[in-house]
Amino acid sequence: MPTTKQIRADAARLGIQTIRTVADGRIIHSGRVTCAACQAHEEIVQRPGVLAHVLLTAFEKKGWTGLGKRPLCSLCAAKPSIPNKPAPQMPPKVEEPAMLPKQKITKAAMDQMPAPTPRQVVAIADDLAERLADGRYRAGWSDHRLGDELKIPAALVAKVREDLHGPLKGDPEVDALRGDLTAWLSIGDDLRRRLDHLEQTRA
Ligand SMILES: [Zn+2]
Repeated sequence: MPTTKQIRADAARLGIQTIRTVADGRIIHSGRVTCAACQAHEEIVQRPGVLAHVLLTAFEKKGWTGLGKRPLCSLCAAKPSIPNKPAPQMPPKVEEPAMLPKQKITKAAMDQMPAPTPRQVVAIADDLAERLADGRYRAGWSDHRLGDELKIPAALVAKVREDLHGPLKGDPEVDALRGDLTAWLSIGDDLRRRLDHLEQTRA
């Protein structure tokens, strides 16, 4: 069996970025390709350890071509002569290198954090007001993701969150389902964007 590192290297040669995101404590593995023409990207959720060529086939089935050279989404591949309006620039998702799984934040890790600056407290509190509902993170959000966005260590986010809102409520089964839902919603977002793109270019 090839190692995760080998699989990642193989995938990278084929222009497929392997990413893992954490949603509500559940790790979601996916492969991502980005269109060289319109910058649209697509992610396919995968089981861990899926071989690069299996991912390649999955993307090709979805209409991607030129992987490993100049990846094109099915829309751009079908209309090479018409310049595409550039897709709206999405803020880059902060990704965790696959070799460094996100650790659960322990109380000890929170205690080791220095006191947050007033600016950090305000930034975290602002984001929490939006991301937290009934003591739980909304789908796709976590201390880690908030920390990534704010460039503040996740343990410090957790510390401020606990000071402001108390410990997170959580039910593992519900959180697992929510993680699955998040993955599906992200696929849905991509499909919606591709549909919009298609409607605009064929209008
Ligand atoms: Zn494209």
